[in-house]
Order: sequence, then C-alpha cells, then structure tokens
Amino acid sequence: MLWKKILNLLIFISFLFYLSCKKEEDNTLPESFMIIPHPQKVEMLRGKGLSFGELSNLKMDGEFQRPVMGHILYQLTESGDNGRETLTLRLIKEGSGIDNDSPESYVLIIKGKNAEIISTGEAGLFYGCQTLEQLLEDSRDYNTAIPACKITDYPKLEYRAALIDVKNHLDHMRVYYETIDMLGRYKINAVIFEFEDKLRYKRQPLVGASHAMSIDEIAALTSYARDRHIEISPLVQGCGHATYILKHEHYAKLLELDWNIWAFCPLDEGTYKVLFDLYLDAMEATPGSRYLHIGGDEIGNIGLCPRCKPTADKEGLMSLYVYWFERVCEFIKANGRIPILWDDMLLKSAGVLRTSSRITESQLDEIWREGEPKLQKAISDFPTNCIFMRWNYTMARQPGNIRILDWYRDNGVKAWIATAAQSGPALLFPFDDRDRGMASRGLPAIQSFIQLAAEKDINGMLCNAWDPRSPHFETFRRGRIAAAEYSWNPDARTLEEYDIAYLQREYGISLQNYSNLYGKLREKTVFWEEAFNKEGSRQDPKNALFNLPGIAHYDPPIKPKGDRTDFTGLLLELPDLQRPGTWSEKYSERLKQAVHFEENYKAIADTLKTLYNNSRRNRYHWEIFMVQHDFISTVPHLLLALEQCDTFDIAAQKTGLENVREAIREFDRSWENLNSVYSKTRFISYPDDYVPDRYYHPATQREDLTFLIQVEELFHEMINEWMAEM
Ligand SMILES: [Zn+2]
Repeated sequence: MLWKKILNLLIFISFLFYLSCKKEEDNTLPESFMIIPHPQKVEMLRGKGLSFGELSNLKMDGEFQRPVMGHILYQLTESGDNGRETLTLRLIKEGSGIDNDSPESYVLIIKGKNAEIISTGEAGLFYGCQTLEQLLEDSRDYNTAIPACKITDYPKLEYRAALIDVKNHLDHMRVYYETIDMLGRYKINAVIFEFEDKLRYKRQPLVGASHAMSIDEIAALTSYARDRHIEISPLVQGCGHATYILKHEHYAKLLELDWNIWAFCPLDEGTYKVLFDLYLDAMEATPGSRYLHIGGDEIGNIGLCPRCKPTADKEGLMSLYVYWFERVCEFIKANGRIPILWDDMLLKSAGVLRTSSRITESQLDEIWREGEPKLQKAISDFPTNCIFMRWNYTMARQPGNIRILDWYRDNGVKAWIATAAQSGPALLFPFDDRDRGMASRGLPAIQSFIQLAAEKDINGMLCNAWDPRSPHFETFRRGRIAAAEYSWNPDARTLEEYDIAYLQREYGISLQNYSNLYGKLREKTVFWEEAFNKEGSRQDPKNALFNLPGIAHYDPPIKPKGDRTDFTGLLLELPDLQRPGTWSEKYSERLKQAVHFEENYKAIADTLKTLYNNSRRNRYHWEIFMVQHDFISTVPHLLLALEQCDTFDIAAQKTGLENVREAIREFDRSWENLNSVYSKTRFISYPDDYVPDRYYHPATQREDLTFLIQVEELFHEMINEWMAEM
C-alpha cells in the first residue's frame, strides 16, 4: 500500500527530526533554570541530578580558603568522605583539563545527587558556587530537580566593573555591602567607587563631609569585597569636576576662574598638593587594589588665569591638559597603581570625538584625515601605562565610536569601555529605549557597547551609575546586572531573554514584555517633568529655578543669571476665572495627556503591586517603583482639578477648588511616602554643617530630596495665592 509506505516514511522522518531536536535540547537546561550570567557551555549527562535540600556535605580538595557562599550552600558542613551527598571543590594546577586557563573559569558537574566544581583559581571556585547556588534556588522555587549536567564556564571580558557614585547623596553603609553581595553573585569582579566628599580624608580633612564614610570603613568594605573576588578602586576627580573640593573658600586661590568652582588651575603647585593628598587617602581606603581612576573628563574653563593664559595662547590648551595628566599619572605610578582616565579630552583635543550617529562615513573620513596626525602627536605626549576609558551611553555602533576603538587597537593604546546602567537625564525611572535607533539608551546601549568591545578584543568594562540627578540606586539594578550578563557572555541572550532571567533571578517572578512597563513609567515621568512648565522640561537650563552659573563641562563660562528672584513666569499660569474656558483651551493638549495618564494609573499600579506581592526576594525594589509611580501620578490629578475650576458653573467651580486642595494634599502624602521609603536605604538630608556644592546639576540645588520638587513648591504656592485672592 502506497499510502502506508508514505505514512511510515513520514513517521520515520518525524522520528529523525525528533532526534535532531532532542540532541539540540539535550544541551540546554530546562526552562525553570536560568543562570545569570548565562554560562558558556552546558552539556546534559545521563543519570540522576540533584534537588534542593539534598546536598549536606562539603569537601575541599587542595590548599584554599572555603569560598564565600550564598544562603543555600553556606549551610553545608565541611567534613571528609562520609557517604552523604557532597559538594566537592577541587583546585587544580594550570592546564589540567580546563580549556580556558583563566583563574575565573570553572567546570561544574552535577550528577547522582552530588556536585563537583573544578577550577585553576579560587575565583573560579567562587563563581562555580554562585552558579550552583542559582540552580539550587530554582530547584527550590520551582520544586524540580537539577538534571545531571556539566557546565564549562569562563568570562569573555577580564575586567568587569560597576561604578558607585555618591556625588550628591549617601546610602546607609549596609547598602554598599549588599551591593557587593549582589555584584559578586553575578560575577562582577571590580568596583570603581567615586567618593567625592563622602570620604573623610585625613590629609585634607576639609574635603570630607562630617557624615562621610571613614577610611577604615571603606578599607573594611574593600576587604569584604575582596573575599567575593571584587576589587574596589577609587575614582578621585581632579582638574575639572572638582566642585566638591573647590566649594571650600579655603581653596579659592587654586581656582582657575575666581567665581568658577569647576576647575583647578593646572599650573598652580598647590593643585597637586591637594590632589596627591586625596589620592593617598583614597589608596589607603582601598588597600591592595591595582587602580586609581583620576577622571579627567570634561575639563572646561581652563587656560584663562594669568598664569595659564600665556601657555594656552602659545602652546594650545592641550598642553595644559597634558601637563596635568602627566603630573598626576606620574604620582600614581610612583605609588604603585595604574591610572585610569576618561578619554574625551584626548579625543576632543584632536577633534575626533565625533560619535553622533548622524555623521556619515565620508564626513568621518574628512574628520580623521585632519585629526589623526593631531591624535598621534597627542598620544605621544600623553602618559603611557595608563588605561583610557572610552565612555559612550547610546548605541555603540556609531561609525565615529568604532573608529576610535580601532585607532586605539592599531596604536597599541590600552583602552576599556564604559557604559551606563542609567543614562540620560533620569531623575526617577531610567531610560530603556527600544525605539530611538542609534540614539537608544539603557539596556540596548549596554548590550551594544559590550558586544562591540568583545568583538574588538577589549577586555575591560565599567558600568557607570551617575549621580548628578541622584536617582535611587534600585533603579540601577537591572542595568548593572545586564552589564554583568553581557560582559561575561556577550551573545547568549537577547534583551527579552535577559529580562525574563533577571526577573526570575532577582525576584523569583515572571512577567512578559517587561520593557513595556518601563516604557510606560518613562512616558509618565516625562509628563511629570514637563506638566507644570510653560514650555519644555523642568530639567532644561532655561527652566532652572535658581540663579546659579552654568559652569559645567566644556562650555565657555556662563556668568550667573543675576539676581532674579521671581521665577513664576516659567510655570503655567492659573485659570482666569473672569474668562472661564480660556485656560482649558490653551492647555487642551496637556489636559488630554493628563486624562490618558489618569486612565492608565490603575493598570500600572496594579502591575507593580502584583510584582511586589509575588516577589520572593528584593521586594524593596518594587516599593521604590510604587512610591515613585504614585508620586508622579499626582500631576494629572492636579491639572484636571484646575480644569474643573475653569468654568462659569459656580457649583462645579467649587467642587473643582475642593479637588485642587485634595490634589495638593495627595501630593504631600505621596511625597512623604517617597521620603520615608528612600530613607530606609539612604540619608535623605545632609547634616547642618554641610558646605553646599552648588552648580548647575539638579541634585546640587538642595541638601535634601526637595531638589526633586522645586517646581511643585513654587506651583503650589502660586495656587494658594490664587485661591486666597478669590
Ligand atoms: Zn591657571
């Protein structure tokens, strides 16, 4: 029978197909198991696996300290072979069986209710334990056995760092310990700590704030981190970005411009005395670490003082930068550390810092034809044996960015990359753009730059987490862990797959299309930033509610705005009740948006509440998201209440006014909640003796969280006056 033959053939083909799929499947862990970072290689083995609760014994084969372990493995007791289910850690000599000879690589074998971790380094044993801990966590959470398997794993990038920046705030000390635990869990092996004035320097005691961390406290943290194979190195900003030092009257004679606290005079010897003292203290706070990051980016406003101007006129501004770089690098090397510096001044000096995606290849050819000889000259003047850090916070494959990396490689310049867990002007929720092409920020940018670095054989990565707008550290979590994922294994997961793994790992929950929620929170945050301003955002310099000089960065010095005291003209006027309806008509677009955000409040709030309720761990993360969401959601309420007042109908107007009062009360409550939840982990105000560090960054405007609500303070005052006049 022909049809029977065909059927048999079909069954046979299906069977072959099944076998080929099965083979593929065979080397993937079941869906319940998600390891971050994704391991390099998984092979399934025959036989029994291992379930949560079965291991009880630890055996250590070789000369080494028991690695720090997570909550589950920590409970194993160390004893010899006693027949019970055992985790064996084996430290072996180099080259004995592991392909990758990095001391961070490891092999984990799970079989017959036992586990074995083999490595040539203690770091590898530690990482093997982190992987096993995650598998056991999933075995417990999903009540399923880890199948027998062999995991061979090693990092793609050698240096994988996260930045901690305390420029405008300070967290409780335990937060830094918990951050180290979290980073170690995801195989991050370095931290760059930007202390600013939050370290109590001994040699320049004026610089450290009275509530700052002591050198001993940071040294203890450094040692704790080292036990988790994380090296903490300090970042001490110098020539520019120096407001935390130069805000003190005592250092006035070191200023390049007498009213500008941004930059030191690079030709004043006093500059070096102060910086070297800070370096020595920072090194003492991080004993045994290899690096010292000197910043050195965005040095604007130099070459202007009577001492520097002749040099700048004769030899160019570049000579002043180079002089500063050389002096500080020489000192750092003499003290046994390797300097790290941001690379923008070097590139800018040669005119090749052109990383916009709008620049075409042919424009770029032109730029580099002119710039490259200058860059060659500059690099020969620059100190060597330091690491140039290429920072870029949008999609990395802009031709201009790629060309810089290629130039570094071709010219033997040691370069690492820096991406950011939170970039763009984010005050509350971070950006996570998927729709801005080459200009996208957030997770896509992190993935893109690290993948590019891996292709270019760059072996170091820093994930920044900037503080000019002082967002809560919880909002860095997803980005930091993404940087850990992609720097260990750049191509294993898509962003969607990463999100699924992130939610499972960090909270023990699942949610489809998580970036969609991020998009909604961002959209609403932008509305909060813009809603009460006549035009633009509260973050636009033209909308600033203070008279401070725009001194930052490369800009030519902008003098203070003057003695302006009334800023009400920057905000929305209030409804003119003599001409009801005109206000609502003028702002009809904004009110339409307010209705939209009013309507989506419940859906977002419910999702956040569900995430909070269902999370098995780290529920504080959702607490932060919930209070921030409630806080920004008070904006549409107030606008719509004002609209209600804008009518001939006296009764309706009265209701409207009552609703305005209620909207302000609601704002006060949400603000109090936000302060209270933030204060569980950070100091929300500075001590009375704190010397303000004021310049044109939002979080430098106040010594507590009220920098976030300067607009509301003024707008509510306007409303109260408006109501009093009725
Ligand atoms: Zn000078």
